[in-house]
Amino acid sequence: MYKFKTLTGEIAIDTEKCSACRAKPCIAACLPQILKEENAHPALVIDREAAAKGKCIECLACELDCHYQGKGGLTVLLPLPEVPA
Ligand code: SF4
Ligand code: SF4
Repeated sequence: MYKFKTLTGEIAIDTEKCSACRAKPCIAACLPQILKEENAHPALVIDREAAAKGKCIECLACELDCHYQGKGGLTVLLPLPEVPA
């Protein structure tokens, strides 16, 4: 598992699933271009601190492309907004 923090949550990548994913669409989907391929899975091209400070814009594009065109290895974990009582 490869993980990194975002401004409000984290991204978890099941690297075993990535090994079987040829196209790796998550990388091209990332508009700020903070992902690269490393050891057959996506990894940060920037340092972890920068990703956690907002370079990852939490757009979910990587997760959507992974789900529809990849092998489902990537999950963006964001806290749910509070529901007013
Ligand atoms: S699209 Fe999903 S399964 Fe494929 S390399 Fe990216 S994170 Fe891994
Ligand atoms: S959530 Fe958006 S900005 Fe963050 S890694 Fe995925 S595609 Fe890139």
